[in-house]
Amino acid sequence: PLVYLNGAMMPLSEARISVLDRGFIFGDGIYEVTPVYRRRLFRPEQHLARFMRGMRAIDLQNPHDEAGWLGLMQQVVDAAPTEDQLLYMQITRGVARRTHAFPAQTPAPTVFLMSNPLLPPPPSVHEHGVACVTMEDKRWLRCEIKSISLLGNVLAAQNAAEQDANETIQFRDGYLTEGSASNVWIVKDGALISPPRDNLILEGIRYSLMEALCAEQNIPFAARRIARNEVFHADEVLLTSASREVMPVVTIDGERVGNGKPGPIYRKLYAAYQRAKVA
Ligand code: PMP
Repeated sequence: PLVYLNGAMMPLSEARISVLDRGFIFGDGIYEVTPVYRRRLFRPEQHLARFMRGMRAIDLQNPHDEAGWLGLMQQVVDAAPTEDQLLYMQITRGVARRTHAFPAQTPAPTVFLMSNPLLPPPPSVHEHGVACVTMEDKRWLRCEIKSISLLGNVLAAQNAAEQDANETIQFRDGYLTEGSASNVWIVKDGALISPPRDNLILEGIRYSLMEALCAEQNIPFAARRIARNEVFHADEVLLTSASREVMPVVTIDGERVGNGKPGPIYRKLYAAYQRAKVA
């Protein structure tokens, strides 16, 4: 497959960066993952806005305007072999002598885009739901930034993998935050509830979308702090992300969620999401 690196398309096997890249040395960069259906980027403006917001948040000089980025994104999508894809893009503060603070002379950022086939979750996920486990959220306090420094998320994902679970649901000081790479939602008495948009979670592009789909489907929606016991006593628990789409959680730490089956609010929102994808 062809990837984009610093101004050129090339085979993945030929893409090379310096070991002094601040992304490699410090995790000093921002990334973004955008789903692609039938070779069309899904909600690219929102993904790009989050990407640019991340750059501003860490004072990383943005080398392209919106049209420039969208052009690069589509170029990589068009060069990929499959119709449905997950487009990955990353920017780092570039190559400089190793010292923590920003280099005095701003280096050219390193810009990398690649696209991989998007495999939607298998039908069994939608029929039977998935198992999750829980963990204390041990990440930093700027989770709203889509930083490439992902060690906390990596350890949370590994915790799930080791317990044959689909995802780790994290709590900070007794309140729900999010998964290792997904937003977490609960359903209570027919309403969809999510943790607020703040510095403790990454606001998924599906966050606003779920809000809109709730309005469309006449499902009450609320954003507020959610205590741990509310998650364990929820009628339904859902995960969302670019790759998970909308996913039903049927057990948490081995305890059944609701009646242990994917619920009615999940089914409505999943169906609405499938329609939005191809609209
Ligand atoms: N939270 C975290 C920590 C994530 O990594 C992701 C995946 N990007 C999400 C939430 C969901 O975001 P999105 O809906 O944009 O995929």
